[in-house]
Amino acid sequence: MWDVVVVGGGPGGAAAAKLCAQGGLKTLLLETRALPRDKVCSGVLFGDTAQSLTREIFGQIPESVTVAPGHLLGQAVYVHGAERGVIEQRMPITWRRDLDHWMVRAAEREGVTVRDSARVLDVSQGGDGCRLRVRGRTDGSLREVGATYVIGADGATSAVRKSLFPGLKVPYNQEIRECYDIAFPLEKTYIHTFYDAVLKYWFIINFKGPYFLLEVSGKLGETSALKENVVKPYLAQEYGFDPSAVPLKLDGTVEAKLYEQLFSRAFVPAQGNVLLVGDAAGLQLPTGEGIGSALLSGARAAEAAIAATRRGSAAADTYLHLIGDLVDSIEQLYALAVKARFTPADDPQVTVERVVEMMEASVRRVA
Ligand SMILES: Cc1cc2nc3c(=O)[nH]c(=O)nc-3n(C[C@H](O)[C@H](O)[C@H](O)COP(=O)(O)OP(=O)(O)OC[C@H]3O[C@@H](n4cnc5c(N)ncnc54)[C@H](O)[C@@H]3O)c2cc1C
Repeated sequence: MWDVVVVGGGPGGAAAAKLCAQGGLKTLLLETRALPRDKVCSGVLFGDTAQSLTREIFGQIPESVTVAPGHLLGQAVYVHGAERGVIEQRMPITWRRDLDHWMVRAAEREGVTVRDSARVLDVSQGGDGCRLRVRGRTDGSLREVGATYVIGADGATSAVRKSLFPGLKVPYNQEIRECYDIAFPLEKTYIHTFYDAVLKYWFIINFKGPYFLLEVSGKLGETSALKENVVKPYLAQEYGFDPSAVPLKLDGTVEAKLYEQLFSRAFVPAQGNVLLVGDAAGLQLPTGEGIGSALLSGARAAEAAIAATRRGSAAADTYLHLIGDLVDSIEQLYALAVKARFTPADDPQVTVERVVEMMEASVRRVA
């Protein structure tokens, strides 16, 4: 029987686990994949919130965790037919494999027990606390684990969320990432976001060491065709990209888009003693940034579990109160995202200005 079981070894899970252990709770972290694991992500700590929380919870990011150029100088926004927009902000850039591993190891040093290759199948709550069914991925074993509190930090397709809300309809976006070792004529010290005002999709270009990465975001099932038939021909025409170039690596993921359910309170990311954080809770920002809100919600879940232990009460109400400012700030950004999306397609410069307005608000936000 554990005080807390944290499900997922991303930034949300690592932050929650480390702070629970620091607060004196006996904490187990379960991760389905073998650690260290990578994650499809640009790996940029964009905003003030993400950067300051990383320092507060884990310390200064060591150079071994960042990847060349180490820090970016900002974000550039492109809409066809308009001058590009720029947001200046110093931001560490990493491979998520290295960033997340550094965070999980810090949690382990704090006293967290970490078990990888351990997939949580589901969670139930009863009079004697929470029970998790866990599948060992190396030996196929099935075990039951008991805990007073469960923190579901298991990302966009969260098994913990499915256990709490089996009927919840989750809209997903799909992202495909390609990694090349070819030159590309854009500055390596910026992350480059392209927004198509007519077709309403995004793609991102960033650089890590010698690699050029292309990340395309679209509707589930349509992203591959979008990448091949729209994005690559555009990059060929504008930047001389060779559409027949073979990537060193191709991978992908999905993002849960739960904004409307979250704002209307049709979906509430906690129940009893089970708390959802980060992407599992639908707390990724409408700009695509999610490391900062995973850290923040992870920290607040730990605070709620520690406070509930002292009082001997359920943790959900305290947690929902503590993340209220984060949800409000996401709602404000969402309104800016909607404003950018509904810019008339014949005025690309206004679209750039609105996307920049949203990204500026995002990196400077407090919650
Ligand atoms: C293409 C792309 C680019 C992005 N770029 C950025 C960026 O540059 N900066 C930024 O801030 N955000 C970015 N994001 C968003 C960011 O990746 C996520 O918001 C962030 O990773 C959320 O962290 P998390 O801890 O909630 O979940 P995750 O990082 O997804 O971690 C969840 C963990 O849970 C594990 N897990 C899943 N299911 C189970 C289970 N059943 N049992 C046990 N473990 C389980 C997973 O293996 C994983 O390790 C990007 C997203 C995408 C798709």
